[in-house]
Amino acid sequence: MPIVPLAQLLGQSAVSDFLRGVVSRGRYGNAYLFTGPAGVGKGTAALAFARAALCDRVPGAAPAAAAADDGGMSLFGETPPAPEPVATDGDDACGECPACRKAAGLQHPDLKFLFPVSGVEAKLEETIGETLQAMRDDPLHVFQYDQAASVRMSLTRELQRELAFRPYEASRRVVIIRDCDRMREDQYSALLKSIEEPGATTLWVLTSSRLSRVPATIRSRCQVVKFVPLGEGAIARVLTENGKASGPAARTLAALASGSLARAITLSREDAAGQARAALAMLDPVRSRNHAGLWKAAQDANKFGRAGREALRRTLEFHELWLRDLLNARYGDGSIPLVFADRESEIRAEAARVDAAEIRRRLMVLEEALRSIDGNITADLTLFSALARVGGSRIGEGAWPAHSTARWDY
Ligand SMILES: [Zn+2]
Repeated sequence: MPIVPLAQLLGQSAVSDFLRGVVSRGRYGNAYLFTGPAGVGKGTAALAFARAALCDRVPGAAPAAAAADDGGMSLFGETPPAPEPVATDGDDACGECPACRKAAGLQHPDLKFLFPVSGVEAKLEETIGETLQAMRDDPLHVFQYDQAASVRMSLTRELQRELAFRPYEASRRVVIIRDCDRMREDQYSALLKSIEEPGATTLWVLTSSRLSRVPATIRSRCQVVKFVPLGEGAIARVLTENGKASGPAARTLAALASGSLARAITLSREDAAGQARAALAMLDPVRSRNHAGLWKAAQDANKFGRAGREALRRTLEFHELWLRDLLNARYGDGSIPLVFADRESEIRAEAARVDAAEIRRRLMVLEEALRSIDGNITADLTLFSALARVGGSRIGEGAWPAHSTARWDY
């Protein structure tokens, strides 16, 4: 279970400061929308924010209001003992009180955590239980959805019914809807009504990495909190600390991950080093302009269908990282380690022969091929043609169709 406090959100200091400010002042908005690239910690931050909002020791979160309503008397005729003295600066969950422990185990009755699922309705409870258990077991659990996954209607209906009642234990209820862009129109309408209810005791925290798919009516009623891509150093550190990868392998994964820890973790399950070796083996026929050898390698590297596209994407990305190493070796001040440090002498020798203009030319060829992947292309032909052009062969410089699709999208 990712028990990360608000003070330690990886690479999101502005978000951390903002949310701790909200907690310490105790002035919560009705709804927050956490947005930014996939895999940068929005879900982790949402859970940390929820724990702080429910913690017994943060002033304003304990059920003082409920006690007052009963004339200061509990069911057993005496005032319940006051919470322990505040252990934090009042801007974060204490991590020790009963509320914190329940929230950390995703078992606090006032914490509702909804997320998209796929599969048949009859198995819904099982599927959700498995996901929650996976989150408790693995601090770096990565949510992955298939195309059809959605926040289920039955769950939002059940939530709607529960909203009519007071929170059970805390002074407020926290509802987290992860990847809220995977909901239906009528779910959004019901959500809107709840968010706008005056005097509501519910704190809404929505997350989305696809902001354009969240209806404007929802966006405009939420305080939008923007998350940024993570630095490669931070990603490599987390991979190393959690035994996912180390040394040059961690750096390669971090460089490939485009600022997303989730993507780095997903990649760490694959044989990234083997894939890199296979991709860079094509450098030989590229340099010698051995077209027959390059065509053979391109065919070997690609399978058909979706897997072929992914293999192509990965291969092109490894060649981009190679270019970055060339640039780094030629112009860098040595502060950033090479991604392919095990091939440093080869990189330095090549870097001595290519200037920035040549590296940029090669990069544009690779970027053009990457952009074309989501169109109707043939993977082995695309790879051959791109790498032949990287090597300087002029095999026709026709215009490519424009594809504006994102490079990757969970
Ligand atoms: Zn606490």
